[in-house]
Amino acid sequence: MAEKSDRHPDDIIVAEKKLHALTVDLFKHAGSETREATLIADHLVLANMSGHDSHGVGMIPRYIMNVKSGFTPLNQKPTVALDAGALLVVDGNRGIGQVAAFEATQMAIERAKQHGVCVLALRNCSHIGRIGHWGEMCAAAGLVSTHYVNVIGHHPFVAPYGGSDGRFSTNPYCCSIPRGDKPPFILDFATSRVAQGKVRVAHNRGVKMGDGILIDRDGNPTNDPGVMFANPIGAILTFGEHKGYGMAMACELLAGALTSGGTLRPGTMETDGSINNMFAIVIDPGRLGDRNAILAEIERSLAWVTASKPSKDIGQEKVLIAGDPERAMRVHRAKNGVPIDKTTWRDIGEAGAKVGMNGVEGYRD
Ligand code: NAD
Repeated sequence: MAEKSDRHPDDIIVAEKKLHALTVDLFKHAGSETREATLIADHLVLANMSGHDSHGVGMIPRYIMNVKSGFTPLNQKPTVALDAGALLVVDGNRGIGQVAAFEATQMAIERAKQHGVCVLALRNCSHIGRIGHWGEMCAAAGLVSTHYVNVIGHHPFVAPYGGSDGRFSTNPYCCSIPRGDKPPFILDFATSRVAQGKVRVAHNRGVKMGDGILIDRDGNPTNDPGVMFANPIGAILTFGEHKGYGMAMACELLAGALTSGGTLRPGTMETDGSINNMFAIVIDPGRLGDRNAILAEIERSLAWVTASKPSKDIGQEKVLIAGDPERAMRVHRAKNGVPIDKTTWRDIGEAGAKVGMNGVEGYRD
């Protein structure tokens, strides 16, 4: 679930525009061309605005570490490895994921409009962030999409159902469905109980995690996010027991094997960075049948489902659809600013100093 409480009293509050300007400035200092710095900022700041702080500007220190170590080359251009009508294979050449995924999604949208469908195999990208960002691009073009993502390059964080240590990563899944002029259905989640970045945020804030999310290095249940920063490391469990495990493996195999980007295993996990591969199918619904009739049926379903009387236990005024919480948070944060925990703010400042920026304090409200 997106964070229910939006901020902590100690948080630094930064306005959306300033956070964007800070991010562009920082990556330009690191050596990014303006377009690359802007695509990174667009993505990270929108993740914060959407309430997914785990995938927002808190990623900057790690991205800069990867740039400094040479793991992520800046201004790298993705290359097309196969362009065969509805089949598209793109190699990110390990460059900034926000550039490779943006360009690959744009190409997939063009081909889906041309052929009715595009099967996109995107491989070998540095972190591509919040997958809903790519689903939203497809939905904005009037297309349906489904995305399966795996992660290689680092130690496995997530344990298989029935196992006691990490064997794969948080492998996100996304499904986007446009609704004409209404806001799209955007289902976008990690197949682990929580995204790894949410454990980092809890660790930074010194708060415990809920039950049934983490196990320690011996496979015992724990609420301590510190187990994911210990050596030997603990693991996150998958959501939905065997079902989430199965879905995580669908992501692993589709994104890791079909793209030729690699699955996470000995031989692909011994670096310090993380590489994303994404297998996506982008479909023009109007090529499968009457577009208006399809959109009308989607509305009939959503109206029926969301008319369910709200449960007292969840504390919502009404039943929501996927994508609603992120849109509500965007409205809230546009008005009230983006909260950044103190540790993350300090780390961003240190990342800025590493690339020669003269402090980031001028960007806070
Ligand atoms: P989450 O648990 O917050 O779930 C988000 C999804 O659930 C969204 O589609 C949201 O609209 C929907 N949702 C939330 N509350 C709802 C409600 N009350 N009613 C109806 N729908 C609701 O997400 P997460 O698992 O923490 O993932 C966070 C982000 O991390 C995602 O954007 C994901 O793509 C990203 N991620 C990326 C990577 C990577 O390697 N690039 C890895 C893991 C996760």
